[in-house]
Amino acid sequence: MSTATAERSKTIKPPKVKDQPLLIGGKWLDSVSGKTFATTNPATGETICQVAEGDKADVDLAVKAARKAFEEGPWPKMNASERGRLLNKLADLIEQHREELAALETLDNGKPYRDSYHADLPLTIKCYRYYAGWADKIHGKTIPVEGPFFCYTRHEPLGVVGQIIPWNFPLLMQAWKWGPALATGCTIVLKPAEQTPLTALRVAQLAQEAGFPDGVINVVPGFGPTAGAAISGHPDIDKVAFTGEHTTGQIIMEAAARSNLKRVSLELGGKSPNVVFADADIDAAVEGAYFGLFFNQGQCCCAGSRLFVEEKVHDQFVEKMLKKAKSRRVGDPFDMATEQGPQVSQEQFDRVMGFIDAGKKDGAKLLCGGKRSGDKGYFIEPTVFDDVQDDMKIAREEIFGPVMNILKFKDVNEVIQRGNRTNFGLAAAVWTKDVTKAHRLAKDLRAGTVWVNCYDVFDAAAPFGGFKMSGFGRELGEYALELYTEVKTVYVNLQ
Ligand code: NAP
Ligand code: MG
Repeated sequence: MSTATAERSKTIKPPKVKDQPLLIGGKWLDSVSGKTFATTNPATGETICQVAEGDKADVDLAVKAARKAFEEGPWPKMNASERGRLLNKLADLIEQHREELAALETLDNGKPYRDSYHADLPLTIKCYRYYAGWADKIHGKTIPVEGPFFCYTRHEPLGVVGQIIPWNFPLLMQAWKWGPALATGCTIVLKPAEQTPLTALRVAQLAQEAGFPDGVINVVPGFGPTAGAAISGHPDIDKVAFTGEHTTGQIIMEAAARSNLKRVSLELGGKSPNVVFADADIDAAVEGAYFGLFFNQGQCCCAGSRLFVEEKVHDQFVEKMLKKAKSRRVGDPFDMATEQGPQVSQEQFDRVMGFIDAGKKDGAKLLCGGKRSGDKGYFIEPTVFDDVQDDMKIAREEIFGPVMNILKFKDVNEVIQRGNRTNFGLAAAVWTKDVTKAHRLAKDLRAGTVWVNCYDVFDAAAPFGGFKMSGFGRELGEYALELYTEVKTVYVNLQ
């Protein structure tokens, strides 16, 4: 047996998890109300454990602890290089616990263990290392102003930041938020998604072990309208960073505006066009479009969920795609052979099934899937719709599930226009061997990231974020440092 075959035939043992407290000011506590909530294993629908349910009172305490850590204590006095060392230490600890964290992520979220282990964990570790490198390289400028003045800028940490993250990539979304916030010297109040709080709490434990001072990192699990709203409306939080649905982003922005005009950055959903020209390497395009839609059970903000295929190659493309979609292995996420696990929750399962119904009703052609898979958990068959029209609900709204929509097109100008006919603008992709077409689409598609002959390529060093209603602000790369710093201008009279 080859190593790859041996690995694929393995089944990992799901971890046992104790009930979880929350973390405030370096202490692991019950919530003030004493309430808890259950987090569920989406593969079975069973409760994994109870988690302390934070609310406004807990957020208040967390903000006090974060404020104290920002203004007093060791964090503001610490050398920038020392912050980098702590971030590196955290990355090392996550690496040492890679198997445990991958299993915990799979248990709570339902994503296949092989994805948690081979994608989420390495990307998370690299993100912390990348920002560890930035910690002592964040500096301002000296500016030749008129008059006898020495003028310089300082890039100062923004202060206490609230971070609200979703359930689709729990570890990675935490790393995208914590990396730049910690590198710049901010302090944090994090609310993980109610569906997936477990890895956030475990990483917070590892951060304590790494030696981050008390109060720098606070984690308050709980629900959006209570704990989340307490963060976005808190008068003593300086910034809120959010990833999730655009309607939630609107609520958060409003609360931020009303409370104290705190800074806001939003990474919201998408309806990304993925454009396949007839002159593309069709096998590569099929592979890329398949991955770009079905990866992570279709629960990706940048999923290529409007797949535009040039008419000339449509039939050939669809035939190849169907073969792949029909053979996708759906099942136990702890089985290394599994390619697709369950959707994260009953709510998401119902929502995706609702979109499938809408697709059928609107007259799209269902080529495969469309039903529940198995009889427990929230599994959905890989689903492909053909003959999808621009005005159908499945072509306009974010589905966030394993549902592919294929649309036909005839020429370049048409597909650019149709590709841009959406309120979203998170990502786009183009498949072609013609360099002119590739660059034309890269320029004209209104999206924060454009992939050419590839899909879902991510790197901690390269920015990611949206145009239009996909949000604003760029995470990752040097750009994310701007989200966590204020620029101060200093004039010194030299006469
Ligand atoms: P969501 O409500 O936007 O959840 C994201 C985060 O925001 C969670 O931590 C959530 O808490 C919190 N939240 C919810 N309401 C809030 C409020 N009023 N104030 C402050 N925070 C609040 O998204 P969802 O309901 O989990 O998923 C619904 C849809 O959103 C999906 O089907 C998908 O289309 C989209 N989505 C997009 C992304 C993305 O990466 N762009 C990620 C996830 C979901 P709770 O967990 O307690 O609700
Ligand atoms: Mg869960």
